[in-house]
Amino acid sequence: MVKITIDNQAVEAEPGSTILEAASKVGIYIPTLCYNESLSPGGSCRVCVVEIATNGKSELTAACTYLVEEGLQVKTSSERIMRARRLAVELLLAQHPHSNKIQELARKLGIEKPRFTLAEKECILCGLCVRACHEIVGTDAISFVAQGLNRGVDQPFIKHSEIKCIGCDSCAYICPTEAITVEDVGDTRTLTTPSGKLEFKLKKCKICGSYWAPEKQLEYIAKQSKVPPETFDVCPNCRD
Ligand code: SF4
Repeated sequence: MVKITIDNQAVEAEPGSTILEAASKVGIYIPTLCYNESLSPGGSCRVCVVEIATNGKSELTAACTYLVEEGLQVKTSSERIMRARRLAVELLLAQHPHSNKIQELARKLGIEKPRFTLAEKECILCGLCVRACHEIVGTDAISFVAQGLNRGVDQPFIKHSEIKCIGCDSCAYICPTEAITVEDVGDTRTLTTPSGKLEFKLKKCKICGSYWAPEKQLEYIAKQSKVPPETFDVCPNCRD
């Protein structure tokens, strides 16, 4: 085990674990936004920032990506951290004032109103959808794309591939700002994304007649799991 201290508390952490995992194991709360325990960490939102001290130097780092090392000293709520965390959340709130998750984080940090006025956007580029599509669904249908010709400077955006996307809606489910939404109407699922709308034909259950999942998703599952496609002629509710 790796011996570290978090907020002056001695902690034994699994080798290869992150500061966030080590803190969570001993009940120390560090707020997060772009983190999901089922996915690899992204470290992009800076909400989980903590202060670490090694070799006499202290610095701020993302707790979700920094791996524990012997003797590491971690603070999770110093004044320096709280300033950095509040600034990160304030900037997010200025751009995404309607996101419940960001509003909740702001409340916890005592932010009533951001000091900045920024153009409103839905997508915070946290990458949760990209990671979910790659690591869980396995279709790699979303990617970060640079805008315009000035690729180094312009803000990237996320783009869904019409060819690769199977309409499973995992990206909409995991998105913390509802930048991706899904709606099923009749026999059609519509996925609304920052790069446009995608439509999917839904499969009709042979028994009850309900439309229950995108045909493209069911074809993908049948191929991946090597089950006969007819398995999905009937919805889960009508199966024995
Ligand atoms: S709906 Fe499309 S882009 Fe979203 S997770 Fe599923 S396959 Fe990926």
